[in-house]
Formats: sequence, structure tokens, C-alpha cells
Amino acid sequence: MCGIVGYTGPKEAYPVIIKGLKRLEYRGYDSTGVALLDGSLKVYKKKGRVAELEDALVGKDLHGHTGIGHTRWATHGEPSDVNAHPHQSSSGKLAMIHNGIIENYVQLKQDLINKGYRFKSETDTEVLLNFIEEIKNNNHCSLEEAVRVALKRVTGAYVILLLNTEEPDTIIAARKGSPLVIGIGKNEHFLGSDASPMLEYTKEVVYVNDYELAIVKPDELILKNLGNEKITPYVQKLDIELAAIEKGGYDHFMLKEIFEQPQTIFDCLRGRLDTIGETITMSGIQQYADQIMKANRIVMIACGTSWHAGLVAEYIFEELCRINVEVEYASEFRYRNPVIHPGDVIIAISQSGETADTLVAIENAKAQGAIILGVVNVVGSSIARTSHGGAYTHAGPEIGVASTKAFTAQLAVLTMIALKIAHNKGTIDQERYVHLLNELSEVPSKVATALKLKDQIRILAEKYKDARDFLYLGRGYNFPVALEGALKLKEISYIHAEGYPAAEMKHGPIALVDKDLPVVVVATKDAYHHKVVSNIQEIKARKGKVIAVISEGDSATAAMCDDVIMVPEADEIVAPMISVVPLQLLAYYIGVAKDYDVDKPRNLAKSVTVE
Ligand code: GLU
Repeated sequence: MCGIVGYTGPKEAYPVIIKGLKRLEYRGYDSTGVALLDGSLKVYKKKGRVAELEDALVGKDLHGHTGIGHTRWATHGEPSDVNAHPHQSSSGKLAMIHNGIIENYVQLKQDLINKGYRFKSETDTEVLLNFIEEIKNNNHCSLEEAVRVALKRVTGAYVILLLNTEEPDTIIAARKGSPLVIGIGKNEHFLGSDASPMLEYTKEVVYVNDYELAIVKPDELILKNLGNEKITPYVQKLDIELAAIEKGGYDHFMLKEIFEQPQTIFDCLRGRLDTIGETITMSGIQQYADQIMKANRIVMIACGTSWHAGLVAEYIFEELCRINVEVEYASEFRYRNPVIHPGDVIIAISQSGETADTLVAIENAKAQGAIILGVVNVVGSSIARTSHGGAYTHAGPEIGVASTKAFTAQLAVLTMIALKIAHNKGTIDQERYVHLLNELSEVPSKVATALKLKDQIRILAEKYKDARDFLYLGRGYNFPVALEGALKLKEISYIHAEGYPAAEMKHGPIALVDKDLPVVVVATKDAYHHKVVSNIQEIKARKGKVIAVISEGDSATAAMCDDVIMVPEADEIVAPMISVVPLQLLAYYIGVAKDYDVDKPRNLAKSVTVE
């Protein structure tokens, strides 16, 4: 994953880079480093977070108008001072940062060792850097040319930024598979893994594509392909405001993002859902509506929380559209030679739009003739650009590593797509269609009501925070919600938690139930409610502790549980967007009660741009 930042222009580069790295820490935070060019090359790096590097550099020479910075999520070599980026080439003249994995680095490293190179770190990055330097020296060519030659021989994924003492105001950048944005200022340029490091300086950005190389100077941006042909940069306007990436008075981004959900779901529905005209307008879907209606199957491809959104959507599409749906982990789908027929519809779901496994999976499916629709949060991201059509989730920047608002916005988008297709196809009657449009429009206010439970959930968190394991159960539309609740708890509180379909419990997990096991049951009113109630009784009969998420007024179910969380009643199709909210809060408050850094849980990072 890793966050990368670069700057060249009249400003001091260091403050721009440090501020940018802090915004990119969601991408990785095990070590940090900067390289500054000021006649000579100065490289400072260490294990730990950006703030720790900043403290360590007080009083050091941080002057320079061109520089690069990195916040790491280690793939090759443990987090350590030496493995931190930037790396310096053998001659000391080049410095490089890298986001991604060089897959053939072992072979390249051996070749270089045979030629006398010695390596300080265990990273694949240092290998690529010296490989570039070796080509530059052997071919007596420019750095730009050496990078081009090297990248043709490299397999894997990368964004690299390079500094060269011989070209003091230039950054050479290249990408394949990892994200790179270049911001255009007045006689200055900014580079970042996303646009957040450049937000206060410019709104004009260029998203660099795979196999493109950029030569970036203060007053000039040259984009080329690996064949050395110039490409005209496509300049886009950013529509993110600075406030959207700051904490705004909340203790953590995760809490802020949980509380943003009434607004983000509203933003997602706005301009699309019209309850008066009884329409759903989604231009990126409309173009492919015929193909979707005729599709033999839809395949949802995603990872993590987005995969759970896909599972909810499977139930919704099958019920409303009567189309067969499969939900696939991108990492499995891409490697297993799946059967794809031209006309299959693939829906790729990803918050960042950069998830490496999802991206490659859809590229493969696209090559085999499938129609690719992206349900993506980050505008202009790789998945958005690779897809034929789709819809943005408009949830705004999600910075907390544990996804919350992106999930509910994905559900809102997927529900709208299903309703639109079902209506076009005639598989839903008008009355149910209108009812669901209205139900959908009421979700933001029902989520706002659910958020009022925060104090109650904080008390519950104190009560259960020392449990060793948790079980999460749900049926039907609430089954993926149970999976998502368990995932949130694992991510944030490091408590082992498993999600199961409620009825499946008796085929194994029930053996775990005893007086010490908290079982969270998502049991809002739906077609199977009475069945879930039976499952609750089965747990109680074995003395398990039941914490149930139920619909307001369901006193009969409340009476059998140890603790209940009552959320507003809603149609089962839209209920997951509401019932997941208390589970997000529960995970959050347990994490806080255990004094963990909920925005940066250990070993995790957001925007998984490595396999
Ligand atoms: N492979 C590089 C390293 O381990 C970069 C890692 C990444 O982008 O996540 O240092």
C-alpha cells in the first residue's frame, strides 16, 4: 500500500511533504522517510509514524525545494529504519520511493549481486533502484531512459518517484498498478498517492495511467509512455474540500465517518432517487441497462467490507431482478481461470478504486468480453477508469482504516441499481417499487436515529470489552451485516469474532456457546424474524450472552436477550444500512475502551494496492 508524496517548486518541500504524508497515513504507517534535494541529497527515514520522524528531525537541515516522502506498509522486509523508504542507490546519487511489489526482484537482486552490488535493506525497492542505476551507468543514458528500460523488465506493481542529484529540480515518476496523482500549481507540481496532499494548493490534477512515465519540473510536466512517446496530460478538476479530510472535532476519523452516514447516504441518493417522479437516474448504469437486464448472471467482485456489500446486493438483485448473482473474492477470482461469457456483467465494488486484486480481476474479465461496472468511492480511481460504466458512491474521503460510510454508500448505490433494473425489466410491481423508493429515501433519517444509540453502545462496549471471542449471527439480508460486524470488531479491537448465518450455528459454532461467549444477533423485523428468534432461544438455552439488534418496539424479542439495541424498523431490503450502524459503533467503542488506535489498527492499511 504505502503513501507517496512529491513536491517541486518555489516552496520549501519538507513541510508540504510531511503534511501530505500525515494525510496518507491511512495507506500505511510502519515507517516514514523523506528525501530533499538542495544541491546535495538529504535522506531522513525511520521506523514509526510520520509524527515520530517529524520529532526526530527537529533542528536538522530540511532545506530543499524538491523532495519526496513515503509512509510504508511493509511487504518485503520488516518495518525498520533501514527498510524505510526513500532508498538511495549505490552511488548515492539517486533516491527512490515505491508503492507496490516488484515480483521478479529475487532474480534481479542476484544478477546485481553478481555484478558487485551490495544491499542495505531487504526491500524489493532497493533492488529496482539499483537496477535502474546499473542501466543508467551501462547505457550512459538519462535517468528517464534508464527508468523506461528497467520498467520493461520488471513484473509486479509500482508507483515510483525518483530524485537525481544531477537534475536538482526534477522528479521522475512512473506507475503500473498503484495510484499516482499529479497536482498542477503555479510553477510548482505536487505528487501523491491520492489528491489529499495537494488539496490546499491546487484543484487541477492529472491521474497518471499504467505504463506512463512523468518528468516533473516546477514549470513543466511531461508525460510519456514506455515507448518514449509524449502523451497529452488530461487535466481534471478536483471537487473535494479540505474540511472533508480533517477530523472536524471528532476523536477519530472512524467516529466522524460513522456519524457522517446520514449525510453520505443522502449525498449518494441525491439527484438519483426521485420519489415524486418515481424514477432512479444513474447515467453510468442507464447506458448498460439492456445488457444488465439480459445478463445470464452478474458477478460481484470485491474484497473485505466491499465483499460484504456484494453479498447484500446478491440477495437484493436475485429477489428484485431475478438475475443469478455470484459474489467473488477478487483475489480468488483473478487466479482461478473463471468461466466468463461475453455479456456477463461484472460489478466491481471498491472504496478506493485501487484495490489491486479487484483491478486485475476486472481487467481479466474485460478482456474476455464481460461488461464491467464499477461501484467506487474515489473519483478518477483506477477501477473507475477501467470500468465501462458504473456509479460513484459519493461518500467523500474515507480515512479511518476500518471502512464504515463507504459500506453504507455502496449498499445505497447497489440497491438503486437493482431497483432500476428490476423496474425496467418488470420483475417488480409498481407498488413495491414505489414503496422501496420511499424506504430508501428514509434511510438517512433512520441512520441518524440509530446514531443516537451511541451512549448506550459505549456502555455495552465497557461490559463486553474483555470477551475473548464474539459470534455474530444474522439471516437473509442480515447475514452479511453479521459478517461485517464481526470484521469491524476484529479490525479495531483485535478480538476474535466470527460471523455466521444464524441457522448454520447449529452445524458447528454452537459448540462454542457458553456463559462467556457474547453472541451478537442481528434480528430486525423481516420475513425470517421468527426463525432468528428460535436461534436466540437456542443460544440462551446454552447460557450464551445475547446482544440483539432488533426493530423498535419488538419487546417480545427484547425479553429473551441480555442486551438489546433497538433501531428504526425498515423494509428488509434497506435494513442492512441501518442495522450495521450499531455494530460499527460497538467495534469502535470496544477498540477505544481497550485503548487501541482505531484509525490505524495494527498490521492493516487502507486502499490495498498490493496483492
Ligand atoms: N515493497 C515495498 C516495501 O516493502 C513497498 C511496499 C508497499 O507499497 O506496500 O518496502
